[in-house]
Amino acid sequence: MTTKTSRIPGLHKLSPQERLQKVAEAAGLGDGVLSHLGNTGNLEAATADSMIENVIGTLNIPLGIATNMVIDGEEVLIPMATEESSVVAAVCNAARQCRSTGGFTTAMSGSLMIAQVQLVGVSNPEFARLQILEHKADIQAICDETDPVLVKHGGGFRDIEVRILEGRTGPMVVTHLVVDTRDAMGANAVNSMAEAVAPRIAEWTGGRTYLRILSNLADRRLARARATWSLEDIGGAEVRDGILAAFDFADIDPYRAATHNKGVMNGVSAVVLATGNDTRAVEAGAHAYAARSGQYGSLTQWEIDADGNLTGSIEMPLAVGLIGGATRSHPTARIALDILGVETADRLAGIIAAVGLAQNFAALKALATTGIQKGHMALHAKNIAVMVGAVGDEIDKVAQELVAKGKVRMDVAEDILKSLRG
Ligand code: NAD
Repeated sequence: MTTKTSRIPGLHKLSPQERLQKVAEAAGLGDGVLSHLGNTGNLEAATADSMIENVIGTLNIPLGIATNMVIDGEEVLIPMATEESSVVAAVCNAARQCRSTGGFTTAMSGSLMIAQVQLVGVSNPEFARLQILEHKADIQAICDETDPVLVKHGGGFRDIEVRILEGRTGPMVVTHLVVDTRDAMGANAVNSMAEAVAPRIAEWTGGRTYLRILSNLADRRLARARATWSLEDIGGAEVRDGILAAFDFADIDPYRAATHNKGVMNGVSAVVLATGNDTRAVEAGAHAYAARSGQYGSLTQWEIDADGNLTGSIEMPLAVGLIGGATRSHPTARIALDILGVETADRLAGIIAAVGLAQNFAALKALATTGIQKGHMALHAKNIAVMVGAVGDEIDKVAQELVAKGKVRMDVAEDILKSLRG
């Protein structure tokens, strides 16, 4: 009998197929599992292997298309990658209900990212702050020399700001490099700049630099979207008032706001993932921004316009790109960008904000009226059917009967499947 171990020396040097073999031995996987993981679908094993470490396979997530979106006067088809049922349908429904009022209008605050350089060990932090600020032109030159390609595309260094923070270990002087990263998300771009500038900051001030990395609180890169839903389209004043009450609840209660914003991120993260962008970066930025007042609140705002209609708006950091990361290396991400027809990262961010708003509208409307489970049930029933072993035609048959019975549960699904199979 072999003892299971997580020590597999040299795993990283092997090909994905060889690694899979090793892992299969270590984990005792059967032949079926081996051939399942060996099939990497439309992401070639070699491409996956160039993206992350120790690749043994790929994980497929459904890619759906949200219809009905009109954004800044343009019809846009939205590719969404998500494993959660109802997310795509919610956007389609919300977007359909605001077509009569012109759909969504978006704007971007800019494509500025912030990189932070942490300096410690200076006894006179105010003095050090000015020393750093005096070197703005040197810092600009170092940053721009680090990424001439970015500069060629109209980006590069824009500004510095220097903050003094009181830490438990003493004061720290934190320099922010503000960099326009244009059509790139810009993490690697600004991290390289921070690393290039840090030794000079240490030299100028006599202190010691530690961290040199971007901030995911990308509050110089805010995407905004707004839309109006007429009373007629949403089903009357009662629905509107229910949505307003739901928003009010989220804005005063972090327990509710977390779930409210999770709904927003259902839409946002699905487009971020479909386009090969960094879901964690966007999520970290969104939640940090939602807590900027000191109390975690809603990423969206809901109001009544002069005609009594419902208006919604969203404002959130959206550091996404059309270049860099997996946006170019993942073939499906490239196709998703083609479907969207976007030519700038700003446009992509605006679209994603609109999707977040649409998702929030759909969730609040469902919550304020029929409840969230009704819409979820049809697809959830299919998941339950698959979970109890239904295959092919059986999936729909079991799911339909579960919904008809009003009992979408595994035990009921098992009984239905048993009787189907005689
Ligand atoms: P990147 O370095 O791969 O590509 C960006 C580069 O492309 C630019 O620096 C520029 O030289 C070049 N470029 C060419 N045409 C351009 C154009 N039109 N506009 C802008 N730049 C252009 O990628 P990146 O965007 O710097 O970094 C993104 C990656 O970094 C993601 O994979 C992300 O997951 C990862 N990352 C994230 C974090 C974080 O969020 N905390 C930290 C480290 C790395």
